Amino acid sequence: MADTTNWVGSRQLLRRLRDVMAGGGDAQARLDQIAGIIARDMVAEVCSIYLLRPGDILELFATEGLLKTAVHRTRLRIGEGLVGDVAAHARPLSLDEAQDHPQFAYRPETGEEIYHSFLGVPILRGGRVRGVLVVQNQSRRNYTEEEIETLQTVAMVLAELVASGALAAESEFASADGIALRPLRLDGARLNGGLAMGRVVIHERRTTISQVVAEDVTVELERFDAAVQDMHRSLDAMMEELGGHRSGKEHVEVLEAYRMFAEDRGWLARIREGIRGGLTADASVAKALNDTRARMAQITDPYIRERILDLDDLAYRLLQHLDGGEAQQDRRRLREAGDTVLVARSLGPAELLDYGRRELKAVVLEEGSATAHVAIVARALEIPLIGRVAGLLDRVEAGDHILVDGDNGTVVVRPGDDTRQAFAETMQSRAELQEVYETLRDLPAVSGDGAEVSLNLNAGLLLDLPQLRQTNAAGIGLYRTEIMFMMQGQLPGVDEQAGVYRRVMDQADGRRVVFRTLDAGGDKLLPYMSGHHEENPAMGWRAIRMTLDRPFMLRQQLRALIRAASGRPLEVMFPMVAEVSEYRAAREILELELARAASRGESLPESVSAGCMLEVPSLLFQLPQLTGCADFLAVGSNDLLQFMYASDRGNIAVSDRYDILSAASLRMLRSVVAACDAAGVPVSVCGEMAGQPLEAMALVGLGFRSLSMASSSIGPTRMMIRSLDVGSLSDFLDSLLTGPSRSLRSKLSAYARDHGVSLWT
Ligand code: PEP
Ligand code: MG
Repeated sequence: MADTTNWVGSRQLLRRLRDVMAGGGDAQARLDQIAGIIARDMVAEVCSIYLLRPGDILELFATEGLLKTAVHRTRLRIGEGLVGDVAAHARPLSLDEAQDHPQFAYRPETGEEIYHSFLGVPILRGGRVRGVLVVQNQSRRNYTEEEIETLQTVAMVLAELVASGALAAESEFASADGIALRPLRLDGARLNGGLAMGRVVIHERRTTISQVVAEDVTVELERFDAAVQDMHRSLDAMMEELGGHRSGKEHVEVLEAYRMFAEDRGWLARIREGIRGGLTADASVAKALNDTRARMAQITDPYIRERILDLDDLAYRLLQHLDGGEAQQDRRRLREAGDTVLVARSLGPAELLDYGRRELKAVVLEEGSATAHVAIVARALEIPLIGRVAGLLDRVEAGDHILVDGDNGTVVVRPGDDTRQAFAETMQSRAELQEVYETLRDLPAVSGDGAEVSLNLNAGLLLDLPQLRQTNAAGIGLYRTEIMFMMQGQLPGVDEQAGVYRRVMDQADGRRVVFRTLDAGGDKLLPYMSGHHEENPAMGWRAIRMTLDRPFMLRQQLRALIRAASGRPLEVMFPMVAEVSEYRAAREILELELARAASRGESLPESVSAGCMLEVPSLLFQLPQLTGCADFLAVGSNDLLQFMYASDRGNIAVSDRYDILSAASLRMLRSVVAACDAAGVPVSVCGEMAGQPLEAMALVGLGFRSLSMASSSIGPTRMMIRSLDVGSLSDFLDSLLTGPSRSLRSKLSAYARDHGVSLWT
């Protein structure tokens, strides 16, 4: 903990920074001043600010002490040099002799060779690295804990300033050519990852209505009915066309949900009523569109907003059909245009499909959320998608060059040549890495010393299933069933559920699938279940608590799973269990349903195994009892760690506060492996940490032999494990875990570096 003098010092420093911000002036001048203030306050000869640019490039934006000519010229990739190393591991790096460090990369243009000591901290926001802040001294010295903390605090302020636009540093890149339309960087939300570059095509929707009042109501009604028929036919054609795509069936599922809206009788009836009241078909559809817009303005629930957006999208489609095939013309224009990045206010799933995969490199929207249907389709088609880019349409023009960094949720419009070049190189090296993963695809995830790790997928939609074969994962370690429940307008019945679960198992084609029972409630609201406001939804009425209170829901779900498994192995697990008695109660319901199916002569699963998620710390103190009755455990580290540290995983003010790679959490995880091994109960990890480089390495070192993760992590994890010696890592961890260390991240990174472990940073 810092002493009081240090806090006073850091407060004064922050005040000075705030004064610079309040003072006005251009962005570059302010950044320069900030670098000067930090250098003086930290008694350092050098202070440099590197900011992340699309394509994972760290660019020197300002410096006090290094040669000014290096500003905007010195660029490092993530993982390159000491600065890149700080960004790659998102943790501070303090060295008394920088040049001795194996990662040191000499950049002659900076004139930094005379500086010996180095302290770099990541500039973090929302859990993501936005840049690196560095101080350097000529003398060899060790930076104190207090100095490191002070620099981290300053980096935090810098991150907020950059993000708030107060610095405008991210949007005012120095323009080499100085023309009026400057390069522009815009931030949004990552809805689907990946990098792409191309030219802007603006997706336009027809909104002008030439005639409002109907001359003949009957004719208008006929035009409307014909347009509805046309729309259905084109949706059917789309579904058919998708049948040929490798993940075709899954898109159909999304489109079917979408078509449900197209058949929404209430909505269609309202439009007909408008026509009967004297409006043309077009005007009545436009009125329905305005109505949904007005309703949307009052609704904050993201799920319901998305469903209303679907209706909104359908209204535009209907207008196009009334007008005669505008979408087709758009599509043709696009084919002629070549590499296209589609820019729109919002986009429906069918509209995205209108454009076709080959023509489209990426999509950037002013609206949109991760649960939007368009995001689901984009994921399946592997099209990078960024949403919620404020002011997008006002700032781009058709034909502009655009770089899309879906991983970081940023775009650069009208990039300079050098930025384009660097971005293209990053895309190229990503593609090469992807080829390496491909070559390893069919090799087992076995370490150098023979430890085999089962790599599984986390999934939640039929759309995810093709990834099983593409990644050659062992199976699905976590199937989040709640996603289907969230996408529906009403509670899905047994038959409907059984149909989906059957298709999941069919497509898994003999590979194991672990179905997690409904984890609704909390922030995963079901629109048809009236929920009351909860102060702490993550700790509220959710998951197993809800389904044990509403046993019919659990019974129906288990009944559907049993029916779907018929003759095949069934694996289920229960979420958010806090007491062994809850697991037992859920299991009893499973037994009841099995007995019911047997008494009706239904074909039973070949075998049934019932696991328990370990997400609530209270279970850590019931492990012998739990392993006595559960068939397997799955560590939901996202929840387990947030509860262990009492640190909300969704709150960026605290989500980065504790390191998952601390001695405390690793000791806890090691005790889970020990208890499970002693009881002979299989255990896996299916939280996000299982798919992250250092974390996955640590988990294997602790003894976990089964991990479940997003599909994009399978290839890199396989490569990491194949480069690892688990015995030596376990010994290393044993020596680390006795200490009090708040974070073992840097020690584990150093281990990986020294032992040639391939980490995909
Ligand atoms: C977890 O908590 O780690 C987990 C896998 O469940 P979810 O992220 O769906 O809450
Ligand atoms: Mg969870």
